[in-house]
Amino acid sequence: MSAVDPIIQIVDVDKFYGDFKALSDVTLNVRSGERVVICGPSGSGKSTLIRCINHLEKHDGGKIIVDGVELTEDTKDIRAVRQEVGMVFQQFNLFPHLTVLENLTIGPIRVKKTSRAQAEATARKYLERVHIPEQANKKPSQLSGGQQQRVAIARSLCMEPKIMLFDEPTSALDPEMINEVLEVMVELAESGMTMICVTHEMGFARRVADKMVFMENGKVIEVAPPEQFFSAPSSERCRIFLDQILRH
Ligand code: ADP
Repeated sequence: MSAVDPIIQIVDVDKFYGDFKALSDVTLNVRSGERVVICGPSGSGKSTLIRCINHLEKHDGGKIIVDGVELTEDTKDIRAVRQEVGMVFQQFNLFPHLTVLENLTIGPIRVKKTSRAQAEATARKYLERVHIPEQANKKPSQLSGGQQQRVAIARSLCMEPKIMLFDEPTSALDPEMINEVLEVMVELAESGMTMICVTHEMGFARRVADKMVFMENGKVIEVAPPEQFFSAPSSERCRIFLDQILRH
């Protein structure tokens, strides 16, 4: 697979749940190394859009091409794309019966057939990266929410993805733990990772985003660099949304 730019092409994508149109004509390009933040009201299709990128949801119309591979029903292509795309969810989805280290090594060992020694070395490297190397032998229930989410980020990184998707990664956290997770995400952004983040953390967005996206009713309403997005959004709906969330 060759390096292609844009690394993600989303072209005229539609998505239905039954009769309900959750995505309508969505077009978005993401360059390699670009950091995209998606915001918008609840139910606007943000999560559906990023779930379509690794085929957790199947789109019904249009095209999604990830690093040169078009997402079709071909399971070989889906597997190829999933290997390149890491995803972090609102709920951490760690295996409760496994230690932190085992949570981090199970994917590389089972899916990538990495040796245990190599998988553990990689896991420890990424636990350092998310600043919790000392938690390797604990079970998820022994960690705080912020620590569990950092384990979930490290788990994704252990698969050495080219792209990371974040679906409201801090919205299930107590307020005092949000910053420790955002800090790890900022460091990841600064390392050059291609990232798409669904979040309403606008301080984070201002720090890292190259491109801001506002969605409403399944449509992309506005795409702009952060300076323009925050100071002079071109749509009235985006302006009202920003007024509401920035007031908090
Ligand atoms: P957001 O992430 O912006 O809150 P979602 O992508 O989660 O929005 O949802 C978009 C719309 O699609 C919402 O109206 C939601 O209720 C609906 N939806 C999401 N997932 C499903 C599903 N699995 N089945 C039916 N409707 C769904």
